[in-house]
Amino acid sequence: MTADASTILKSRVPDGPLEQKWDNCKNHMKLVSPTNKRNFDIIVVGTGLAGAAAAASLGEMGFNVKSFCFQDSPRRAHSIAAQGGINAAKNYQNDGDSVYRLFYDTLKGGDYRSREANVYRLAQVSANIIDQCVAQGVPFAREYGGLLDNRTFGGALVSRTFYARGQTGQQLLLGAYSSLMRQVDNGRVKVFPRREMLDLVVVDGVARGIVCRNLVTGKYETYSAHCVLLATGGYGNAYYLATYAKGSNVTAAWRCYKRGAFFANPCYTQIHPTCIPVTGDYQSKLTLMSESLRNDGRVWVPLKQGDRRAPEQIPEAERDYYLERRYPTYANMVARDVASRAAKERCDSGFGVGDSGKAVYLDFSKAIARDGAETIRKKYGNLFDMYAKITAEDPYKSPMRIYPAIHYTMGGLWVDYELQSTIPGLFVLGEANFSDHGANRLGASALMQGLADGYFVAPYTVNNYLGAKKPPIVGTDHPEFLKALEETKARVGKLLAVKGTRSVDSYHRELGGILWDYCGMARNEAGLNAAIGKIQALRTDFWKNVRVMGTPENFNQSLEQAGRVADFLEFGELLALDALTRKESCGGHFREESQTKDNDTLRDDANYSHVSAWQFTGTPDGVQLNTPALHKEPLSFEVEKPTQRSYA
Ligand SMILES: Cc1cc2nc3c(=O)[nH]c(=O)nc-3n(C[C@H](O)[C@H](O)[C@H](O)COP(=O)(O)OP(=O)(O)OC[C@H]3O[C@@H](n4cnc5c(N)ncnc54)[C@H](O)[C@@H]3O)c2cc1C
Repeated sequence: MTADASTILKSRVPDGPLEQKWDNCKNHMKLVSPTNKRNFDIIVVGTGLAGAAAAASLGEMGFNVKSFCFQDSPRRAHSIAAQGGINAAKNYQNDGDSVYRLFYDTLKGGDYRSREANVYRLAQVSANIIDQCVAQGVPFAREYGGLLDNRTFGGALVSRTFYARGQTGQQLLLGAYSSLMRQVDNGRVKVFPRREMLDLVVVDGVARGIVCRNLVTGKYETYSAHCVLLATGGYGNAYYLATYAKGSNVTAAWRCYKRGAFFANPCYTQIHPTCIPVTGDYQSKLTLMSESLRNDGRVWVPLKQGDRRAPEQIPEAERDYYLERRYPTYANMVARDVASRAAKERCDSGFGVGDSGKAVYLDFSKAIARDGAETIRKKYGNLFDMYAKITAEDPYKSPMRIYPAIHYTMGGLWVDYELQSTIPGLFVLGEANFSDHGANRLGASALMQGLADGYFVAPYTVNNYLGAKKPPIVGTDHPEFLKALEETKARVGKLLAVKGTRSVDSYHRELGGILWDYCGMARNEAGLNAAIGKIQALRTDFWKNVRVMGTPENFNQSLEQAGRVADFLEFGELLALDALTRKESCGGHFREESQTKDNDTLRDDANYSHVSAWQFTGTPDGVQLNTPALHKEPLSFEVEKPTQRSYA
């Protein structure tokens, strides 16, 4: 299963001191002349923050951009849901922040499983993002004097998170969308909504186009370009219950994997500590309560096991503010994986609250008494309203009940320093790539990474690729396009031909249950082996008994969902296999066999300081996964040597 791949995986990290690498890289890149840019077509799949930012920037530079998404409008991408904020090393609070400190916090937050040079570049460009967004008119919160305000997020001892109440993603996406629409108006970008990318077309080993299904007409369409950018988001919906938009999926990335792009660290999934707990068997979605709430909310459980009194009736002396107790320095603002594990541990030990016992309190009573309800409303009003609407409880009067839930995926398609995958000409941006967060992402850093990739990295590296390679024109009549089209139609046809009796949703729900139980907050060897067997059996059953309604030649949401679940059923196995292979604990990947005495992650740097990158070894149209090959990109740390992570 393991191949020596240092020869295959070239990270292409530039030489030179850490702080000069990105400048050195940019200074030596090839350029496409201004008048020549109009001769290059670029496909960007995805219109979330990463995709919209890249499409707008490349359009502005003069390239011909084709922008795709499955929603009815680019501005409905999942990024719109982001609540709490975006990090940047501006040091507006004068509390000791710097590029270096943001780099350090992010590297440590990821439990030293990310590429040092990428993380440093992310911290460097973070400040540019805020300037760019302010210029677009993004209404970040301001202080009384008019300066941009900041709040604190987990894993940091400084306030560096810029925000627009609890709607930061929405405001950032509207900014990126405005820039995109400007380029549509200029004729540089053409937008293709309601298209689902179902395959990547590779010609002579190079990414040259995509196959889509028009979700309104059901017609298949092919598009060619000189390169393809994938910004299709994360795969957390494999777990069924998650905070993601329901449409988020792994299909585009999985198709690229089956065409030769390596999939890196699929087992690195983020479980967010503050979500509204599961309430019933027929629930289809979970809701995040932003991490920003932990700035003022205090997490606690009763000191006594099984205490069923209402929270207001439990006196201060009988409460356990367990994060403040265990981690006095960071207290409620510890990193997400740490807070999630601590909540699970308290609930598993019988201290959980609510009917299920699978919840802890997030309590604002002290902050409301100190600052007044109006101040709290100004900071978090929409989040409190959301909680009240969903639970019919008033969080101004009694504490919120929260529990961890799947929220983000650090794994994704493997990319080099220039965001290029193992397929030349295929670039991967935002949550869809594995790049900068290692084994755990710190809050407010996904928006930072997506916009860094889209506004400040890809515009340089794509220009470099086109300037250096000057790929020849390939039309959609090329045999590889026709072949990929026929394979796509056959795959869709196969789904409809099963004509079984079991609903697509029931398979998805069962898969999610398997992943959550065996590959969720805690993982062990026996459980992961069991998960792989169960997923294989479920997949076999799916292809015998699934019922997909309707026909392919029209609007058919049952078919859309079936295709996505079929891919999750394959991908889920890779996720579990990756978790099985990584025997250490790191960040969100908690192997029970490898923990400190305090229930924290125990890394094994001697054996696992690498990125695991999986290569598909079957045929793209095959349902069976065969045995993927594991390649390892060694991680080296020149500036910040890995230590045992501590937030105490
Ligand atoms: C509730 C919630 C709150 C969050 N809050 C924060 C926060 O405060 N700060 C922070 O930093 N991060 C936050 N995050 C994480 C952050 O929002 C995401 O990681 C980020 O927005 C992902 O952006 P993206 O551009 O990579 O992908 P997405 O926004 O997921 O966009 C994916 C795009 O790809 C398209 N697409 C996908 N598959 C296909 C296909 N097959 N064919 C065609 N198009 C396709 C979609 O149509 C969409 O346009 C939050 C996440 C959630 C769920």
